[in-house]
Amino acid sequence: MTETLVFASAVDPIEPWRAALEALLPDVRVRTPDEIGPGDDVRYALVWKPPAGFFARHPGLRLVTILGAGADALVGRDDLPDVPITRLSDPEMARMMTHYVLFAVLRYARDIPAFEAAQRAGRWHYVHPREARGIRVGVLGLGELGGAAALELARQGFSVAGWSRTPKALPGVDCHAGPDALIPFLARSEILVVMLPLTPETRRLVGAAEIAALPRGAALINVSRGAVIDEAALVAALAAGHLGGATLDVFETEPLAAGHPLWGMESVLVTPHLASVAIPASAARQIAENIHRVRAGRAPEHRVDLTRGY
Ligand code: NDP
Repeated sequence: MTETLVFASAVDPIEPWRAALEALLPDVRVRTPDEIGPGDDVRYALVWKPPAGFFARHPGLRLVTILGAGADALVGRDDLPDVPITRLSDPEMARMMTHYVLFAVLRYARDIPAFEAAQRAGRWHYVHPREARGIRVGVLGLGELGGAAALELARQGFSVAGWSRTPKALPGVDCHAGPDALIPFLARSEILVVMLPLTPETRRLVGAAEIAALPRGAALINVSRGAVIDEAALVAALAAGHLGGATLDVFETEPLAAGHPLWGMESVLVTPHLASVAIPASAARQIAENIHRVRAGRAPEHRVDLTRGY
């Protein structure tokens, strides 16, 4: 019997997902909410911030997959169906994120912002390069994306430490866990990469005190969610020169408002939330595998823990 997967996203086009999923699942039709008719047996949903009332219209759902790695936009809703909620877990998505983090860390490690400023001033400005092993990078969050980025930074020879909720062991990464370890971890991080999910526990976790704990002149890279950082404290620390620079892909409010102080700061690089994106050709395999599992009465993989928030 043919089943239907409803695809709901205001930002992702359906066509590449339809092509990739229907190729793997010939007995599943991939439809937008508008395309669904009375003959559709809607069993699966692939969603990014679906509108209010969306889930109530599909009482036959057996599996919900978030079209991304972050669950924060869905976890807080009060209309979630009582079925497994899963996230994308895709090595290509992790690779794309690792590329962004590597770019941002290398840019600071090789003093590129100083050369960009010197070039604007027409000034030859020699800064002797430092060896990677002497540069201390800290990664907040050692999950699928954070763990992959930390491992690659270690492979590139940086002195890498990581911080997570529960203890981790990653080769070449000095791993720390739990609230008591946070301030000492920050104190050794001259480049800090924020890769924590947004949960009630992590909202504004990086505030004025945490930023103050970073070494003077440290650089901060945020690729997870804007609200993990207290943005006002971040702006103040940049203005005061305690933070030497920031690379920000995510913001408390997106798009970043016209006239926001971060736009005009020379030491800040703003990118529009694209450090990594969902890639249909590779992520469809995981979704198809989970659909096979659900059909066989087995638990799907990569479930979001709604009580934990990620
Ligand atoms: P995971 O859910 O796989 O891992 C989260 C990590 O954060 C884990 O190591 C977890 O600890 C740690 N963590 C969670 N809560 C706490 C806490 N209270 N204290 C300390 N550590 C904590 O996430 P991913 O690595 O896959 O992704 C991270 C985030 O990146 C996503 O949630 C999403 O918001 C963002 N993202 C951004 C994109 C972009 O383009 N900018 C694209 C994709 C994702 P533990 O290991 O102990 O569970």
